[in-house]
Amino acid sequence: MVSIMKIIFVAGDPKPERWTVPIQALLPEAEVHVWSPDAPTCNADYAIVWQPPAELFEREKNLKAVFNLGAGIDGLLQVPNLPRHIPVVRLEDAGMSVQMAEYVAYHVIKFSRDMTIYESQRAENVWRIHRPIERKTWPIGVLGLGHIGKRVARTLADLEYPVYGWARSQHQVEGVQTFAGQDQLKAFLGETRVLVNTLPLTPETRDILNYELMTSLKPGAILINVGRGEHLVEEDLCRAIEEGHISQAVLDVFRQEPLPADHPFWGMPQIAITPHVSARTLRDDMLAQITGKIRALEAGQAITGIVDIERGY
Ligand code: NDP
Repeated sequence: MVSIMKIIFVAGDPKPERWTVPIQALLPEAEVHVWSPDAPTCNADYAIVWQPPAELFEREKNLKAVFNLGAGIDGLLQVPNLPRHIPVVRLEDAGMSVQMAEYVAYHVIKFSRDMTIYESQRAENVWRIHRPIERKTWPIGVLGLGHIGKRVARTLADLEYPVYGWARSQHQVEGVQTFAGQDQLKAFLGETRVLVNTLPLTPETRDILNYELMTSLKPGAILINVGRGEHLVEEDLCRAIEEGHISQAVLDVFRQEPLPADHPFWGMPQIAITPHVSARTLRDDMLAQITGKIRALEAGQAITGIVDIERGY
């Protein structure tokens, strides 16, 4: 008897059919189940998850792989009984890198091309022309050169800003001067006027955006954080702004989301805030990628995007 492939979807979405209908359309041969603590164990082959409960892995013991509905794996790695003997797979790009490149380029252009000044002039009916941009005075440093960081760095390099990139290992990115490892972090920071964080959250990168890092940047630097809120030591940013080490910050991610209404960041005009929207997850792109990988695994082929659980990304 041919066994039917079973998929369990676990994401706490009140309308799971938004996901299960397209999954079923992409994998018509599969049986697609929605997780419920009250439903019987379905003996699934694959789990597609976002922040699943630990009970999932207590109940579903025959999983061949777990697919995370996001690029960042930090939330999933907190589930204590996440299986370690099967592939845990994260999203790779899935339409997010281009959005991130856009988001970062938008802010870099806004600051470097004096758009904030022209906006305030517009409010007062003022026609005044400022000096043209000197690109070499706007060096940009990108922390992380993965799917997202590389795309951000390349986009800014195409706009002819000087771009530096830093990762754990050595990378080659056209138009970007790269640095690798802790030993080269200080040198990288010393070149940087606009720092863009695209790192994953791991024990090594937690709190990396701290006072020491901020004071190692060029004076009056700009910080753009699109990684995770836990990368940033919030009190250190307030201090670095007060002391003039950081002139502007653009924050898309926060330790506590939604950012509480009484959080001091709201009262600081130097901090631009967006509600974790720098790269939205695009359902069609995500599900096409995940179901493509399920098909590949079923055909005995290798897939990319498998998380190194020890490394944390
Ligand atoms: P990747 O895994 O493709 O890239 C991660 C990069 O970070 C790699 O270049 C890696 O180095 C580098 N890195 C990791 N740890 C260290 C370290 N200790 N020191 C130096 N470099 C390190 O991830 P993505 O680019 O796909 O995603 C990055 C993160 O972006 C996600 O984990 C997520 O947190 C965040 N994100 C935020 C979103 C938002 O809406 N704000 C949306 C999507 C993602 P190496 O190449 O040497 O391994």
